[in-house]
Amino acid sequence: MVDHITYVGPYVVAKSRPVKKSKDMETCTNTSCERHGTHLGCAYCPVCGTKVEMGKVEFDGYSAEPFELHEVVDQKMYYQTGEKGTDYWFSNLTTMDERAGRSFNVGEEEQYFPVTPKMMKEEIKAFMELHADEIEKLRQAYDKVEILWGVLAYWR
Ligand SMILES: [Zn+2]
Repeated sequence: MVDHITYVGPYVVAKSRPVKKSKDMETCTNTSCERHGTHLGCAYCPVCGTKVEMGKVEFDGYSAEPFELHEVVDQKMYYQTGEKGTDYWFSNLTTMDERAGRSFNVGEEEQYFPVTPKMMKEEIKAFMELHADEIEKLRQAYDKVEILWGVLAYWR
């Protein structure tokens, strides 16, 4: 079952840059071999015959990994991964924001509200105050953090 979600409200756009990362893995140590970087459970590489050993394997990652930040933001926010190091962070708080007059969480309940330029400004302000600590942590982890107001559609 795939749910189609339309989010309307303030959110964080966080961008990180591509970086080379490495992890330890039992693999063919010949870096030009096609099996280098694949986990091998045998003593010698079946392709090139090089001894299989524990070694560092490089892979492409991003400077900030959202799954590592989930605990950092204390579950008060959740994310959706976009393309090329761009992640979207939303409020995970179900409490009604008094200033905005509604919750920023995409819940099961239907919410009706008028969308006005004034409301957008007020909600961005309220969102930034509500999540000041989390936004600061995201700013430390990512290269670029922006608070926007908009409409986002995604599947989960
Ligand atoms: Zn090999």
